[in-house]
Amino acid sequence: MGKLDGRVVLITGAARGQGEQEARLFAAEGAQVVLADVLDEQGEAVAKEIGDGAIYVHLDVSQEDQWQAAVATAKGAFGKIDGLINNAGILRFNAIVDTPLEEFMTVVQVNQVGAFLGIKTVAPVIGEAGGGTIVNTASYTGLTGMGAVGTYAATKHAIVGLTRVAALELAGMKIRVNAVCPGSIDTPMANPSQLDPDVDAEEMSAALDELYGKLVPMGRIGKAREVADLALFLSGPDSTYITGQPFVIDGGWLAGVSVI
Ligand code: NAD
Repeated sequence: MGKLDGRVVLITGAARGQGEQEARLFAAEGAQVVLADVLDEQGEAVAKEIGDGAIYVHLDVSQEDQWQAAVATAKGAFGKIDGLINNAGILRFNAIVDTPLEEFMTVVQVNQVGAFLGIKTVAPVIGEAGGGTIVNTASYTGLTGMGAVGTYAATKHAIVGLTRVAALELAGMKIRVNAVCPGSIDTPMANPSQLDPDVDAEEMSAALDELYGKLVPMGRIGKAREVADLALFLSGPDSTYITGQPFVIDGGWLAGVSVI
């Protein structure tokens, strides 16, 4: 018996990183999974590797018509959707005073509008299925500040707010809505060297551990699979009385500062 037997879960940003690990784990736990992304080749390849019970759809989360098309494809393939992971996201580094409005709006459009459109489009479909779960991907910068990521942090704070309101509004439809708030996770977003074939992955991993050893009480960067485990907990039968909450997964980074 899998923890998600009989479930159909749509996961955005599933071509790589945390979304990919969520798709693989959810499928292993019995769910049928709809992988959505703009990286079509990679997304198709992951869905093919997962095999039966997985499909890939092209979905730019900032585009409402593409959400409707993706939902129609998912329902056509699996008959329903009863889980959504709003995972797709982008990051830009800039001081607030140096950030062009266009850059700010690009990040808002993907991270914040994408999560809004996901909830707006998919919640009624989950309701039709008799209820289910939504997990939004915020960040630990959704709960605290970090220099040089003002645009990103603003959208992640917005996702925490959206999560709370959606939980209030959707509880009557038996839909639970929670947010994951990862610290630094070893994916191409936090470690772009993963995408560079000339970089030695082990050396880079050791360098990251050294860096995070200074920042994070647990002394290391997080793994995408660890976030997938949290998303599984929030989507599955072990969290049935939990809704409207942000869950920090950061190796203790937000716990406070050490003075000695
Ligand atoms: P990643 O860059 O490896 O994955 C992000 C995925 O989102 C990619 O597959 C990308 O193609 C997809 N994507 C980007 N724009 C899209 C769009 N418009 N429509 C659909 N898909 C789109 O990074 P990740 O770490 O796996 O990121 C997953 C989520 O976790 C993001 O929301 C990110 O903000 C959040 N997060 C990451 C970290 C970290 O340290 N890696 C920390 C906190 C939160």
